[in-house]
Amino acid sequence: TSFDEADLHKVMKENIELAKYKVPTPVQKYSIPIITSKHDLMACAQTGSGKTAAFLIPVLSQLFGRKNLAAPRPQPGVRKMKAEPLVLILAPSRELATQIFDECRKFTYRSMMRPCVVYGGADPAPQRDQLARGCDVLTATPGRLRDFLDRGLISLRRVKFLVLDEADRMLEMGFEDEVRSIVQKSDLIDDGTRQTLMFSATFPRRIQDLARDFLAKGYIFLT
Ligand code: AMP
Repeated sequence: TSFDEADLHKVMKENIELAKYKVPTPVQKYSIPIITSKHDLMACAQTGSGKTAAFLIPVLSQLFGRKNLAAPRPQPGVRKMKAEPLVLILAPSRELATQIFDECRKFTYRSMMRPCVVYGGADPAPQRDQLARGCDVLTATPGRLRDFLDRGLISLRRVKFLVLDEADRMLEMGFEDEVRSIVQKSDLIDDGTRQTLMFSATFPRRIQDLARDFLAKGYIFLT
């Protein structure tokens, strides 16, 4: 019934207070303990349910507890640095990606973690500059992420948390092949330490198939 009872890092509790979130929404109440106890999760959640904070709070809180994980800062004079995020959040649209990024800013506030967002239909230059300044938590639409991966601007080899938000809309928008290629064929490897979380408003067959393919055995299904 309150965030105080959850097993969260002190800095995260401060950020929750600064964000003025007092009571967890139902999806937060159920997801936070599952995620902090390191399970994979497929959760049913509508827009407006508080699903963004339901994954950001427990994911970032775990990272706050692990020292020396934040990527090295660029040295003065070094222009090119590959972004190597620890958290990758895939979202179907620019609007959703931007909303997730805004929540990331609230919850990384008193930490070393730097959030970034990249999406299609916009000038890539400022997004590239932002990545080059260092990126720990990346929110991306699949097409633009593919583009940046192909250009060697991003590596997914350090990703410890993968989130697919609005997975059903991602499929509706025709991103299934792109998402599968990012998850299964990029340098995003599953060495057993990665935690994968999926959120979807609906559960058609294709979403169940994705969950089966992406989530580790024994994942929790929350409706
Ligand atoms: P979402 O479903 O993630 O798009 O969140 C919907 C809106 O609710 C966003 O504006 C959040 O900032 C807000 N929100 C999420 N969780 C809480 C909470 N526990 N208390 C107050 N506002 C919240």
